[in-house]
Amino acid sequence: MEFEMGREYWNPKVETMKQAEIKELQLKKAKSIIAHAYTNSPFYRELWKKAGVTPEDIKTLDDLAKRAPIFRKDDIRDRMEKGDPFGGLLSVPMSHLVACFASTGTTGVPTFYGYTKDQAENMAIAETRIAWMVKLRPGMRYVVPGGPWHWHSVALFGAWRRISPRFYIAGMVAPITIGHTFDAIVKFKPHHIFAALDVAFGLNEEAHKRGIETTELFSDLLYARTGHGEPMTRALFDFFKDKWGIRDAFDGGGIGEGMMVCCDCYAHAGQHMWEDLWHIDLVDPDTDENISVKTGERGEYVVTNLHATGIPYVRCASEDYCEVYPEPCECGRTHIRMKITSRTGWILDIGGKRITPYDIRLVMEMHPETREAAFTIDKYAKKMDKVKIRAAYDKKITKDPEELKARVQKSIKDKLGIDSEITWVDYSQLPVMMHKIMRITDLTKA
Ligand SMILES: [Zn+2]
Repeated sequence: MEFEMGREYWNPKVETMKQAEIKELQLKKAKSIIAHAYTNSPFYRELWKKAGVTPEDIKTLDDLAKRAPIFRKDDIRDRMEKGDPFGGLLSVPMSHLVACFASTGTTGVPTFYGYTKDQAENMAIAETRIAWMVKLRPGMRYVVPGGPWHWHSVALFGAWRRISPRFYIAGMVAPITIGHTFDAIVKFKPHHIFAALDVAFGLNEEAHKRGIETTELFSDLLYARTGHGEPMTRALFDFFKDKWGIRDAFDGGGIGEGMMVCCDCYAHAGQHMWEDLWHIDLVDPDTDENISVKTGERGEYVVTNLHATGIPYVRCASEDYCEVYPEPCECGRTHIRMKITSRTGWILDIGGKRITPYDIRLVMEMHPETREAAFTIDKYAKKMDKVKIRAAYDKKITKDPEELKARVQKSIKDKLGIDSEITWVDYSQLPVMMHKIMRITDLTKA
């Protein structure tokens, strides 16, 4: 079935706005949200006073990135443990929140997110632009396993109201209920699917188990949006295109703290983040020192939410490591692109260099025998002199694993400048969690 694809942008005026205009808008909104947070949130007042900074000191976006104090989830935990579920961030009367979500933190203290009516509306706008960018169109059957993130669901429903696909939520908590999701796909035959990467892999496994070809399962599927947890690479895009017989697959991302969503376009050159709604800057994850935002630069990104008044996020560290591309994209959109490559906790120190599993993955994908990038890195020390990898290779392509090993090791040396040790294992010997290979096996925590 063919759908009328129409224009490229949902909102051409905003999505292709000149960078200078975006910056002007960002500054205006940042000043207003900072003043609001400082006046109404005990947490911010204390944080900024301690840093010796006042809202009046923030005169430019550069001031925002370099002078406004940064905070991390741990900084609000103390207040949360003392009984304030919002960690001192709530800046409006509780009755102004129209939606509230709790996530169970790893330490058992849940983080609370909340929306005011205006913010819910802005989230819906952000998501509608994304949904249109990834080619969701009126009338398409759209399957969303589980409704990916609870706080994101408000945005998703907003986009659904605007674009009017035929919307189906499949399964309750993906990927645990992968069988339900699978059944829903058999029944609804989606044209579009939005599934986290582990769910996508889980569906492949389930198809294999039931003896069904994935191209048959997805016979009507045109587009997919995945992401979350591991970045998409060119080889992974091709894998889904081949395996599912689809036209394109898009890579979504975002963060709960900061309540930001982003996604890539058909150019697959990083995820667009709407700069009229959020501002990001970069810091060194070890020292919090500012890193300037320029093409290809890497750092931990720090979010300032420009529209959240209920629970403001002013310079909230994401604990995600990314590469940024601030120049306009070939799709014509002018909003910054970011490639979220890894959690900051997954950055490895190898030969004094910062290496992420994503870097290793790109090298593995260069070779046809290891194109599926089935590998785990054994972290044997905090500082390592070489990377130790356990990986599987395609035995149908090569009969000479020693030659392949030398070839992959040479690529790792050439591309990343580090030494490596590779041990070939069978795919079934790799550690897997939720249908996905665990990229780091931490031997230091044994
Ligand atoms: Zn683009």
